Amino acid sequence: MSAKKASKKTTKKKSVKAAKYSYNFGKKTDGSAKLRELLGGKGANLAEMARIGLPVPPGFTLTTDVCTYYYDNKQTYPKTLVTEVKDSVALIEKQLGKKLGAAKNPLLLSVRSGARESMPGMMDTILNLGLNDKTVKALATESGNEAFAYDCYRRFIQMYGDVVMGVQAVNENDHCPFEAALEKLRKEVGVEHDNELTAANLRELIKRYKNIIKKRTGSAFPQEAYQQLWGSISAVFSSWQNERAILYRQKYNIPSAWGTAVNVQAMVFGNMGDSCATGVAFTRDPANGEKVFYGEYLINAQGEDVVAGIRTPKAIALLKEEMPKVYADLESVRKKLEQHFKDMQDFEFTVENNQLYMLQTRNGKRTGLAAVRIAYEMVRERLINQKTALLKIPADSISSLLVAVFDPAAVKKAKALTTGLPAGPGAASGKICFTAEKAELVAAQGGRAILCRVETTPEDLRGMIAAEGILTSRGGVSSHAALVARQMNKVCVCGASEVIINYGSRSLTIGEKIFSDGDDISIDGTTGEIFAGAVATAPSEVDQVLSGKLKAEDSYTYKIYEQIMKWADKHRKLGVRTNADSPEQASSAIAYGAQGIGLCRTEHMFFEGDRITYMRQMILATDEKERRKALKKLLPFQRKDFSGLFKAMGGRPVTVRLLDPPLHEFLPHDESSKRELANSLGVNVDVISNRVHALHESNPMLGHRGCRLGISYPEITEMQARAIFEAAAACYKLKKPIKVIPEVMIPLVGFADELKNQVAVVHRVANEVMTAKKVKFKYLVGTMIEVPRGALTADEIAETAEFFSFGTNDLTQTGLGMSRDDAGTFLGKYKDLDILPQNPFASIDVDGVGQLVQLGVEKGRKTKPKLKLGICGEHGGDPESIQFFHQVGLDYVSCSPPRVPVARLAAAQAALK
Ligand code: ADP
Ligand code: MG
Ligand code: MG
Repeated sequence: MSAKKASKKTTKKKSVKAAKYSYNFGKKTDGSAKLRELLGGKGANLAEMARIGLPVPPGFTLTTDVCTYYYDNKQTYPKTLVTEVKDSVALIEKQLGKKLGAAKNPLLLSVRSGARESMPGMMDTILNLGLNDKTVKALATESGNEAFAYDCYRRFIQMYGDVVMGVQAVNENDHCPFEAALEKLRKEVGVEHDNELTAANLRELIKRYKNIIKKRTGSAFPQEAYQQLWGSISAVFSSWQNERAILYRQKYNIPSAWGTAVNVQAMVFGNMGDSCATGVAFTRDPANGEKVFYGEYLINAQGEDVVAGIRTPKAIALLKEEMPKVYADLESVRKKLEQHFKDMQDFEFTVENNQLYMLQTRNGKRTGLAAVRIAYEMVRERLINQKTALLKIPADSISSLLVAVFDPAAVKKAKALTTGLPAGPGAASGKICFTAEKAELVAAQGGRAILCRVETTPEDLRGMIAAEGILTSRGGVSSHAALVARQMNKVCVCGASEVIINYGSRSLTIGEKIFSDGDDISIDGTTGEIFAGAVATAPSEVDQVLSGKLKAEDSYTYKIYEQIMKWADKHRKLGVRTNADSPEQASSAIAYGAQGIGLCRTEHMFFEGDRITYMRQMILATDEKERRKALKKLLPFQRKDFSGLFKAMGGRPVTVRLLDPPLHEFLPHDESSKRELANSLGVNVDVISNRVHALHESNPMLGHRGCRLGISYPEITEMQARAIFEAAAACYKLKKPIKVIPEVMIPLVGFADELKNQVAVVHRVANEVMTAKKVKFKYLVGTMIEVPRGALTADEIAETAEFFSFGTNDLTQTGLGMSRDDAGTFLGKYKDLDILPQNPFASIDVDGVGQLVQLGVEKGRKTKPKLKLGICGEHGGDPESIQFFHQVGLDYVSCSPPRVPVARLAAAQAALK
């Protein structure tokens, strides 16, 4: 509803005042960081930096509204745009005393994309725009550096040819035609690096570049500056819908409707000589979060050179010696940026003749570990407060503190072969894969892949998503591999220069050791070490402290974890329980802070050892007497399980769900196991086959299961209730009594009378046990709300139920009429088409299933205002869903043990938002 309101407002405004499409920055700055939606992240922050007095070359931003217009109107522009662009260019010209396309003092521009959320490397950039056969001569004269001028020109033709005119490699095995021509020329004149080419060499190269374009497109490279400008602007807007960008948006749930802005900015030159440089830096270490100046630079280089991995960049610390004044300026920029933006910044800079220029800043992407550490330390530094810190940490990041590390003993034995740069912390081992396709294949077959590339490009994204870890032999800490790994929380070691990767022979060599495609390798993204084979892993430091193997004071990571969790607990309103069926799971969940069990699935207890035999006897029984006989044998097992669980939970609430799945799930289906079962039971195999046949259902999800079983066979309910209450009674009789309040939960209720039927059995057994054991205790009987009818009639059901637990897995299946096990075949398409942007089984479908939950809450509490409400589906561990559950007023969420810390943080965030 609020979204509708907002859009109404904007349309109203627009009709009153003509829309403004171009926002200037520089001496006069129209925008600010607040206009991120309109200007994109890059544009908004360029404006903001200009406002706080940082050295930003002047420019302007064409808004995301232009992008929307462009796609809504067959790739055309609003009428007023041409004039606006002219005016904005004129403003730059005036500030710098240069002119676009002029034969004297020509103005050169960059044209860059910039979406609301940064999408590194996904869209296109064009540099040195405005160069042509005439202006290049002016640049040569004015800079006194001919080679520089022609190098800029050849770069421009290359980028323009690629991005605007589509002159690219024709297939995967082909090289970029421009790169190929460049390499050929380097060989011809016998130099290793591009920057060793002379002006004459470069003029020759430019001639060849122009020929390539002519040959491939039939058109000449355009000489007219405004034609170049509009071509570039259109290309950047178009790149919003390129395949890479679309894939990236899917992965990060960025709506395609947001669109990108386009930034046009005066060029500054890092490639004019040795007093020039270009670089990328982070105000803190984005891999582990440590407060150190982090980044890299290249002397005499332009733009993408640092990230492209053509030359190996130097660590930022070295700049202190090479350019002390610039380094000091950068240090003060670093401080100013953090003070102003109150977050770790990732920024791009260029040094032209010892003068520092800022080209971009944004909140730096970071690993989960770094996110947590930075938030924690910024509170200690009083840069931000506790609440801000909690809101800044993506709730999922907490799991990064819990991921396995390599087992120290195994590491000692394995001995590292070499090290690279630690770019994504964690331990990963898997099969060496040299291509993205291979990594996807290995992962699809359930294996673990380590994607090994000389360096990665956006084309490798699919493979990076599929892989456990990424290893590159080239490229620094701001290379594509490092960047993406940080963002996806992938283990990554990059720039391991001793690793020689040969795609042709599909081999990877480290010193004497040769590995082939498919061999096991292990990489440690925390230390950068690389090991042969699959090295064994050990629990995280946090886990080691929680299990008593490591002292809390010896682990800084634990200290951070503990503090963040304390802050979260202080602010959250939702309780956090766990789904656990065994004492081990229960204990681990308590260590993670679980406050109770929200779902104990009893069916898991029927599989171990002899139990399955008794269970099958029970199922195969032909009358009640036989069934009771088998159930009697199951009783002691169940009682023992519950007592173990109650003890592990030490008096915290435990919700036990009675038998839920259809009975045939417990029976064998293949011939040999049927025969085995027949033998053990001393019956003919036909008996088994007939029974299996009789129990077959064409739609088991909607069949004879849940409370329908207990209604058909009350003796099952009776046995389970007896086991629960006898275990509870025993807890009260311990020397140190444990005061459990068991919560018995009836599954799949859609009719109030179903519940009444089962509750009667439970109450009867409870009384019998209490009388027999001479002990009185409290217990609750409640139900799962997991079919739509249950939600719709929640007011009636609440008359009998003492609590509800929303079973959102089944509620999603039944609410959407979509089987979770079969949805895989079409959900991908639904996601591509934006019909269902998120998997509804992972993140709750707020608009549909959410309404059922909300209705259940309202109706249930109308009957019983204090009705206890929880959720126990998969969604209980999903941060977005947790936010919704907080909003509708549930008392608690329940999730798997390792998700408990995530849920605690997400619950706090929900309360603070
Ligand atoms: P991305 O979004 O992929 O980071 P950018 O738009 O930031 O791409 O541009 C890529 C690189 O081009 C930047 O790192 C920067 O070094 C260079 N660049 C962009 N604009 C200018 C400019 N006005 N002057 C000099 N270099 C620039
Ligand atoms: Mg950039
Ligand atoms: Mg269910």
